[in-house]
Amino acid sequence: MINQDWDIKPRTAACGKCQQPFADHQEYVSRLTYGPEGYVRLDCCAACWSEADRAPQAVSVWHGVFEMPPPAPPEPLKKETAESLLRALVEKNDPANGNVMFILAVMLERRRLLVERDVRKEAVGKLVRIYEHRKTGDTFIITDPQLRLDQIEHVQTEVMAMLSAQAIPATPPSS
Ligand SMILES: [Zn+2]
Repeated sequence: MINQDWDIKPRTAACGKCQQPFADHQEYVSRLTYGPEGYVRLDCCAACWSEADRAPQAVSVWHGVFEMPPPAPPEPLKKETAESLLRALVEKNDPANGNVMFILAVMLERRRLLVERDVRKEAVGKLVRIYEHRKTGDTFIITDPQLRLDQIEHVQTEVMAMLSAQAIPATPPSS
């Protein structure tokens, strides 16, 4: 059984049905389904989407606007950012990092890098939040650990330590 409490699903650059590449500012529809292979994402142009595609196993459906990715910027300072740290942790998929992954996702949402597309409530009271990266369209599937306020502060401290550990030169995070 694969652990998909945390996952990243990239947006495709072309419609999954007619295969036409998306144009800048074109509206698209994204669908997440869940099956034996875990989460599967379909992106298609608005013209190809029909409401019949929603049923029966779609877990999340949202509309977005395609933005042509900018040319790759020159290699920035070698420094861990909240986004690169989150991507690295999702790759590891270690439940021990569950709280940290969630706080990083919330930080990126506040900085308007991620937008929340859906919240899924699962049977055992588990909350899964579906975020989409505003620029790249990547979908971040993040289990919400439903932290108490006093826990949040503790995890935030942990996150700042992980971020500053990678920074050059090492400047302590302002508190
Ligand atoms: Zn299409």
